[in-house]
Amino acid sequence: MIELKSITKTYGKGKNLSPALSGIDLKIEKGEIFGVIGHSGAGKSTLIRCINLLERPTSGEVWIDGVEMTKLNKARLQARRRKIGMIFQHFNLLSSATVYENIAFPLRLVKTPERKIKEKVKELLALVGLEQHASKYPAQLSGGQKQRVGIARSLASDPDVLLCDEATSALDPQTTNSILKLLVDINERFNLTIILITHEMHVIQSICDKVAVIHRGGIVEQGAVTNVFLKP
Ligand code: ADP
Ligand code: ADP
Repeated sequence: MIELKSITKTYGKGKNLSPALSGIDLKIEKGEIFGVIGHSGAGKSTLIRCINLLERPTSGEVWIDGVEMTKLNKARLQARRRKIGMIFQHFNLLSSATVYENIAFPLRLVKTPERKIKEKVKELLALVGLEQHASKYPAQLSGGQKQRVGIARSLASDPDVLLCDEATSALDPQTTNSILKLLVDINERFNLTIILITHEMHVIQSICDKVAVIHRGGIVEQGAVTNVFLKP
């Protein structure tokens, strides 16, 4: 389970303080697909980056499976972070590396034996349907294919949480649907907790169990998607 307690984040210093998050409380259960929706500038990206501490909250606590993330030393934080995958709007692939090498990258970082890398990458290529594209470079792929590589890479370390930062916002509607379908498939297959941020209501409605609505750095409403969005 993931729990955020009274998270605040303020950017800047002195007279230029700019609050991005103010008092965020959230509980996300294991295996849930949890959506955070809000307008541009509402604080979604800051919020999701506070979960893996890509951004350090100004105050508050981030609990993941009983561990308080902000209290971990650097080595332990790095180890814990490997169990938190992330995918991005613009995919963040290594452009000079092949699909295979992009997926293998997190495994090479922790010096995984070559034989294991081969096995794992093959498995992930099959999972995301890119077996035929292993030796291509990102520039040779469609947007949807690039995001499939991003997803495969994020799963290489067998994470228990996947953070999705506007993961379908750069894709056309049809490709968006196929990526959302893949996320649901992964969620079911691995009981992976998925947290996604988006400004698109239909993304939330098509795959999320629960949703939080964020406005000006605060959560203004949260609950089951059907309760939050289908009120009379
Ligand atoms: P969203 O993802 O909902 O568009 P963000 O979390 O990116 O919102 O931004 C929330 C607020 O924090 C905005 O006012 C934004 O300008 C500000 N902000 C985000 N990142 C930084 C940063 N690195 N430095 C200063 N201000 C930032
Ligand atoms: P989609 O219809 O899913 O957006 P594209 O039309 O972009 O896909 O690509 C279709 C096929 O062409 C894919 O198999 C992709 O790998 C290949 N492809 C796309 N762009 C290039 C490129 N610049 N060089 C080589 N192959 C490409």
